[in-house]
Amino acid sequence: MQRIIDVHVHLSERRDDALNRFAQRNGLRYTLDDLLGTMRKHKIVRGLLLSPPLQGGKPLPNDEVIRLCKKSGGMLAPVITVEPTTREVNSAVKLAEENRKAVKAFKVRLGYVKASAESHVFDRVYDYAQAEGLPVLFHTGDTAFSTGDLTRSHPLTLDALANKREELTIVLCHFGNPWFEDVAELIYKHPNVYTDISGLITGGPYREKYAEWVSRKISEAVYFAAGAEKILFGTDYPVSGHTDTLALVRRLEVDERDKEKILRLNAELVFGL
Ligand SMILES: [Zn+2]
Repeated sequence: MQRIIDVHVHLSERRDDALNRFAQRNGLRYTLDDLLGTMRKHKIVRGLLLSPPLQGGKPLPNDEVIRLCKKSGGMLAPVITVEPTTREVNSAVKLAEENRKAVKAFKVRLGYVKASAESHVFDRVYDYAQAEGLPVLFHTGDTAFSTGDLTRSHPLTLDALANKREELTIVLCHFGNPWFEDVAELIYKHPNVYTDISGLITGGPYREKYAEWVSRKISEAVYFAAGAEKILFGTDYPVSGHTDTLALVRRLEVDERDKEKILRLNAELVFGL
């Protein structure tokens, strides 16, 4: 089995973590030990750690993400979540500067915050990310809570930003689910736009049919984009489990070499891992 990189992992070890309900549903212990053990079992050598939302909607503070990464002994690397206020933007950049070697990306929670990708409040983060060669991850598509704002998390809202900032590496999380075709067009059109396959597999009565549908959508996006160079493996642990997400990749009707790119090679290039 080959080595794998997971570009989308959550963890807090806190009781007020709003993803605890997903962990329960998936039968996961959702602790650092559990996560690292499962990663090793599946030959996942690195993971990028993102703040989970806490009850009340705020994300886990970034310094706790950095602390958990330090505890992981190099298996997890931090992604700094940026909220749309000048204060939060400044402190996110400061934290990234202080942890320059460790921090691998920024994350903007489109659909959960009252700002769009083009809101000027993010300009300083984009400038810094661009200068440092750090990608910015954007939540796109369906939101985990019914109060999410889909007009702001729609993947096409990233088209204008990608036009304006050709030097900024943009990653659309969750393949814009359910707007797979829009994301296929964006990764085809823009040299600087990528996507991840995290958080796509869930339960439900049509679990098997749904997994087939998702895998067909991703395979078709590979055909449309004429390759898998822009697609990254991510689980969104604990929202989706490792076994299910790896099964999704196995199911894709694409060349083995493209699966290898999705599972590791693309992430090495995009995040400099
Ligand atoms: Zn996530």
